[in-house]
Amino acid sequence: YEVCAVKAGVMLDEAGHFARLERSLAALDIAQPVSMPALKLIGRHLLRLNRISDAILYIQISRGVAPRDHPFPVVAPAPALIVTAKRLDWQKQDAQAEKGVGLISMPDERWARCDIKSTALLANVLAKQKARDAGGYEAMLTDEAGLVTEGSSSTIFMVDGDGGLVTRPLGPEILPGITRETVIDVARAENIAVTERAFSVDEAKAAREMFITSASGFVLPVVEIDHQPVGNGVPGSLATRLRRAYIARVDAVTRP
Ligand code: PMP
Repeated sequence: YEVCAVKAGVMLDEAGHFARLERSLAALDIAQPVSMPALKLIGRHLLRLNRISDAILYIQISRGVAPRDHPFPVVAPAPALIVTAKRLDWQKQDAQAEKGVGLISMPDERWARCDIKSTALLANVLAKQKARDAGGYEAMLTDEAGLVTEGSSSTIFMVDGDGGLVTRPLGPEILPGITRETVIDVARAENIAVTERAFSVDEAKAAREMFITSASGFVLPVVEIDHQPVGNGVPGSLATRLRRAYIARVDAVTRP
């Protein structure tokens, strides 16, 4: 499945989201129900028909309908496609960014192929709920070595003492976030150093700033981890600057 933000009728980071969908389908040996260009047209058509211009576009593809069993059906059924558009108010996201969000650290209990974006989200859902029950917004998942993998539905970034960005390198432990790529691009264009390395929960707690990224949240400053303030407990200046730069990029493609 894929989740793509839509602003002023434009699908943001469209190329990245459709490329990742193609990769996930290939990894699961599911055929493409329609070509990727046709799928993009279906998305645009859905938005237009429903007169929705600010939204979350959700695309879900399953292997198709077959009698219940574990092995794939011998004769591959036609894959099933669902596309929905949910209207979204970007101002709500802005309000959240101004306040900042809290993370709750916990062990990453997901499977060994988190790089595949699949609807098998049970561990993600349980982690998110655990974070919410603990009064946080998002989970900060950690591997067996105590290093941060990612959020339950977001990529996690740290700002180090030199004002550079640190985020975990791509690998099977994390989803290759599309917003992650764009934010790395934005940072490098602003002459901000970016290092891809794993970091610990303790490092994160002592970081100058932290923020999370996702298609629906863009860049959200993290103001506390496990109820301890990060930095001075308010959205950091670099996170705020990157959020503005990200939105400026969005505006450049959505404003006539
Ligand atoms: N990690 C996980 C586990 C996610 O579910 C998401 C949201 N799709 C992300 C990271 C962020 O990815 P993206 O920037 O592509 O939305």
